[in-house]
Amino acid sequence: PSRFEGITMAPPDPILGVSEAFKADTNELKLNLGVGAYRTEELQPYVLNVVKKAENLMLERGDNKEYLPIEGLAAFNKATAELLFGAGHPVIKEQKVATIQGLSGTGSLRLAAALIERYFPGAKVLISAPTWGNHKNIFNDAKVPWSEYRYYDPKTIGLDFEGMIEDIKEAPEGSFILLHGCAHNPTGIDPTPEQWVKIADVVQEKNHIPFFDVAYQGFASGSLDEDAASVRLFAERGMEFFVAQSYSKNLGLYAERIGAINVVCSSADAATRVKSQLKRIARPMYSNPPVHGARIVANVLGDATMFGEWKAEMEMMAGRIKTVRQRLYDSLVSKDKSGKDWSFILKQIGMFSFTGLNKAQSDNMTNKWHVYMTKDGRISLAGLSMAKCEYLADAIIDSCH
Ligand code: PLP
Repeated sequence: PSRFEGITMAPPDPILGVSEAFKADTNELKLNLGVGAYRTEELQPYVLNVVKKAENLMLERGDNKEYLPIEGLAAFNKATAELLFGAGHPVIKEQKVATIQGLSGTGSLRLAAALIERYFPGAKVLISAPTWGNHKNIFNDAKVPWSEYRYYDPKTIGLDFEGMIEDIKEAPEGSFILLHGCAHNPTGIDPTPEQWVKIADVVQEKNHIPFFDVAYQGFASGSLDEDAASVRLFAERGMEFFVAQSYSKNLGLYAERIGAINVVCSSADAATRVKSQLKRIARPMYSNPPVHGARIVANVLGDATMFGEWKAEMEMMAGRIKTVRQRLYDSLVSKDKSGKDWSFILKQIGMFSFTGLNKAQSDNMTNKWHVYMTKDGRISLAGLSMAKCEYLADAIIDSCH
């Protein structure tokens, strides 16, 4: 008998497991709307031209493969904090931000979770109901207790703002409040600018520590600055908070695992200490981060021409998703004779649409229509083409009635 008899089979991952099931399906109508990854109109993966350009430059220069320091590439850390807060922002000038390179958004969230576990024992993290599936795993794994605050209201297919505020108010003072900086995953529903102000008010009132997850900067509206407005609002108020960043979506660097954790502190001294502890957490986990993605980001952000090219490509990607969103809505309205109001689809932003389909209905989408999606009813519009909108509309209408 194996020494591993006691190890039982782990369940498939609710998001990445969808891609595995998709691969195994031989039907040619199949459509993968599970994972949030951008595809072209031909439904092919897309490498940004500006990324290829930066990589060619790196090859020409003959950059070496020496180890990075534990905190990652200095040029990347500087550029990524500036992209988030805006270059010349007081928190940056006064060196109040502890930034270290992380293994994309997930790894950066995990570092922050470890810091919370070590230095805020017993503190709870509040996460939105629902949220990105991996948030719970990350905090569970780090042994950080969490609970949910109300966010999505199925009745309005919109934000339960009153519920959200109430729950944040009722959380024990000094809790961590996980907020999606923009393009909330999975709902695609963001607070309005006025609502963000009220959120900041209660968070401040209750001495909570905001914890932003920014996985879609530039991808929600097409504008990097607009998508960072929520984070910058909290920075204006002089609050201390966390921000995890990812370049998976906006630069299409999914497999490069490039992102960062930023901790905004009230003094440069605190930032130095926090940074030293983040490095201490990273060292025994993975020693130091990979260099390739960090160099790509640093090159693109550090060069005015390439930065402009990136923005144009991001606008193109965000634009394609918006066009597909509109087409899906139009197809649903023209095909559905039930009089159902589909306008919520147009109100949602970012890569996803939260269809309101329940688990059984989502199962019907997959089993009958070969449309692969997460069981919470989320579909990735980034994986949809104009040509497939009508087919998808048929599948949704069949599944929801
Ligand atoms: N946070 C949110 C809300 C996400 O949607 C994602 C990716 O889907 C991530 C973080 C992290 O992704 P990655 O680890 O690839 O940067």
